[in-house]
Amino acid sequence: MTSQILSDCSALRLLFLSTPVAPLGTGLGGGVELTLYNLAIEMTQRGHRVQIVAPEGSQLPQSADAAPVAIAQIPGKLQTSAQTQHYTDPITLPPESVLGNMWDYARQAQHDVDVLVNFAYDWLPLYLTPFFQRPVAHLISMGSLSAAMDAAIQQVARMFPGTLAAHSHAQVDTFPDAGGFRVLGNGLDLSRYEFCAEPENRLGWVGRLAPEKGLEDAIALAAQTQIPLSVWGAMPDPAYWQQIQQRYPDAPVEYRGFLSTEELQQDLGRCRALVMTPKWVEAFGNVAVEALACGVPVIAYRRGGPSEIVTDGETGWLVEPDQVAELVAAVDKLGQIDRAACRRRAEAHYSKQAMGDRTEQWFRDLLQKRSPSAIAQTFG
Ligand code: UDP
Repeated sequence: MTSQILSDCSALRLLFLSTPVAPLGTGLGGGVELTLYNLAIEMTQRGHRVQIVAPEGSQLPQSADAAPVAIAQIPGKLQTSAQTQHYTDPITLPPESVLGNMWDYARQAQHDVDVLVNFAYDWLPLYLTPFFQRPVAHLISMGSLSAAMDAAIQQVARMFPGTLAAHSHAQVDTFPDAGGFRVLGNGLDLSRYEFCAEPENRLGWVGRLAPEKGLEDAIALAAQTQIPLSVWGAMPDPAYWQQIQQRYPDAPVEYRGFLSTEELQQDLGRCRALVMTPKWVEAFGNVAVEALACGVPVIAYRRGGPSEIVTDGETGWLVEPDQVAELVAAVDKLGQIDRAACRRRAEAHYSKQAMGDRTEQWFRDLLQKRSPSAIAQTFG
């Protein structure tokens, strides 16, 4: 590593390795897709060189004010997402694994980059870390879900201090040995989100339509209040959606599909509130910040990332998890929330620039740790 790379203003060469569960642009990768896109654009605008490695068929939205980021399109079978597995399940990879192929690409490309950045919630990149000659930074996107992953994370924390980052303290606390993470939060390009002062009388729910997201509780809320609920998001399992609709036949609910950020923010902005009803410890909850950026208050269970994003009584309401009656009570109090305060909160804490600063510092710190002089000091 040269001293030039370590200086605080030198351009970095970054290789971003995406999630292997779906091509970028499908929404099936969840919040990772937006996080990776925002960081790629932000780092490019700062003069760093970014290349993305992602499953074949990946697409990114075009940014008006940044050059397109190159994507190495990797063929292979997609990985099953960790949320569908049990804690003690063994790690499995399909034949012709796209995850294996992506990391084989990384192995060959590593000599042209300063940092490899892993966005996948998978065991293989953690396990492979010591086999790489370049530092691997792991942005872990979910809480503890797998014993094998937990062990691999612990090993990386021990062998390569400073290389692990997460989105929230609540997420970090789910891991058995919670030390060793840098908490980065997240950030958005707020210029893509328009403030809406005058909402319609409807509520919004955004996310993958999957059991861990607890859509059924938001639908129960719609059934009780008879306030229309708009639902947006990728649908990995249509049977789950049909089943919860049948449970609440009188709920005024409309599924509006998986939209681009531009379309989503326009429609979401007109809601009285975003309702977040996760059944798991949500690592962050990009959608909470997206709602605030539009001036939409957030009603969320006091659990995981949203409980760190929402200021109770100021930018929304935090309620006892799994209590639909409390969601109803929170809707009654929405008049107390100032929508302009929601937008201000997003601007003060969740801009793409602020996230870019924290992330760039993380890369520079870990390069510093790996510099020959730092290694000599440790072992000298
Ligand atoms: N999303 C979108 N269009 C939609 C619905 C959702 O682009 O119609 C995106 C949303 O912007 C967010 C992601 O889907 O980035 C959901 O991420 P979140 O962090 O809320 O949850 P995850 O799926 O990662 O658990």
